[in-house]
Amino acid sequence: MTMIDRSQKPIGLYVHIPFCKGKCPYCDFYSVAPQKGVTDSYVAAVCRKLDEENRVYDTVYFGGGTPSLLGADNVALILYSSNSWGFRDSRPA
Ligand code: SF4
Repeated sequence: MTMIDRSQKPIGLYVHIPFCKGKCPYCDFYSVAPQKGVTDSYVAAVCRKLDEENRVYDTVYFGGGTPSLLGADNVALILYSSNSWGFRDSRPA
């Protein structure tokens, strides 16, 4: 188990979810259509980054794109990858 340095000042976490079912003509945000392999790879990369950062977060915000396209399981994987909420070591396999 990796210990978090609790002397760090907590910061807010923003997770960009760059997936949308379609592209609205007025939108300048980067987004692509979700594809199973790409979505899973993106979530895995976000989880790896959170593991590496080992920071303390006091808020989390999912933006996009359309975050709800990830599904609850992927959102849970991302949340479990930060130890800020104290349950990283009990994340689902
Ligand atoms: S981020 Fe919102 S406005 Fe932009 S393409 Fe996706 S659904 Fe449309």
